[in-house]
Amino acid sequence: MAGIKERVFSGVQPTGNLHLGNYLGAIKRFVELQQKYECIYCVVDLHAITVAQDPAELTHNIREVTAAFIACGIDPKKHIIFNQSQVQEHAELAWIFNCVARIGWLNRMTQFKEKAGKDRENASVGLYAYPVLMAADILAYRATHVPVGEDQKQHLELARDIAQKFNNDFAERIKSLGHGEQFFPITEPLISGPATRVMSLRDGSKKMSKSDASDYSRINLTDDADFIAQKVRKAKTDPEPLPSEEKGLESRPEADNLVGIYAALADTTPADVLKQFGGSQFSAFKNALVDLSVSKLGPIGGEMKRLVQDAKYIDSVLADGSARARAIASPVLKSVRDIVGFVQS
Ligand code: ATP
Ligand code: MG
Repeated sequence: MAGIKERVFSGVQPTGNLHLGNYLGAIKRFVELQQKYECIYCVVDLHAITVAQDPAELTHNIREVTAAFIACGIDPKKHIIFNQSQVQEHAELAWIFNCVARIGWLNRMTQFKEKAGKDRENASVGLYAYPVLMAADILAYRATHVPVGEDQKQHLELARDIAQKFNNDFAERIKSLGHGEQFFPITEPLISGPATRVMSLRDGSKKMSKSDASDYSRINLTDDADFIAQKVRKAKTDPEPLPSEEKGLESRPEADNLVGIYAALADTTPADVLKQFGGSQFSAFKNALVDLSVSKLGPIGGEMKRLVQDAKYIDSVLADGSARARAIASPVLKSVRDIVGFVQS
């Protein structure tokens, strides 16, 4: 990607109940990537309203995700933390991409099918177009790397297809305006580690999700130690002891999930976890998992609760981040308008 600066972008929806999957699959990775890249982390409030939101709760949730980013260790001074709706370039680029993306591409998106459920006719147009807005989020910054959980893989492939089609459709214009061979990078998804898809604690075939009706399906970042312990102890398992090798986790989704969670929290691998716990009963393993979860998540939850009280500080972080995000996205959109052929003054 000659000529395009390496940059990380990712987002989390302010839809409440931030959970262990969001932490291990996304936010923990965001923190690590700060060492190596310039990072932009977004509270994607425009995505949140693709399903109905209570306005006061939405405001609270935007502040809570911001607090989580900071509590987990993202530095809002060295990097950028902001909320999507304060940078209008996202919505504008999404419209242009709506005219690049094909209906056939969107019809294949599994998240829409899952979220719309049986009553598809009644889902919002926004829910359907969600992946196009996500492509705009990333490409408004010409981001080259996007850390996400496994569930977002298909949306990232769509973002790559949109970038590619825009680059192809406007190839001559892009070249003649001095942007070289391609205007948008073909973004690399960063999906790796033992917890790219944390599963529900109640059902090993369903992803842990903010929107699951059962609170026992997930560990929320704001759960206290007792509640974490209760949820881990109630987590579904099978009657066999833990295997000594990873192969033994095949077709044991609940065991596989808990071992993956342990490995990710301990910054080790499932193989190493099984070296330590192979042959143990779940009761012993769960006790160790409770201790580890409480020691890692307790301080984060505490700091989130403290930060969220200080709305003035949180809002100032978002205002500053939004101004810096806009400074990057605005010239990108100016070039896009030129490439497309709009007259601008
Ligand atoms: P919703 O149910 O509202 O879609 P969500 O839990 O999927 O909520 P998002 O805000 O959509 O959360 O996703 C934020 C980030 O967390 C994304 O990178 C997503 O891939 C990641 N993520 C979400 N759930 C999991 C999970 N169970 N395991 C690993 N990563 C996850
Ligand atoms: Mg999601």
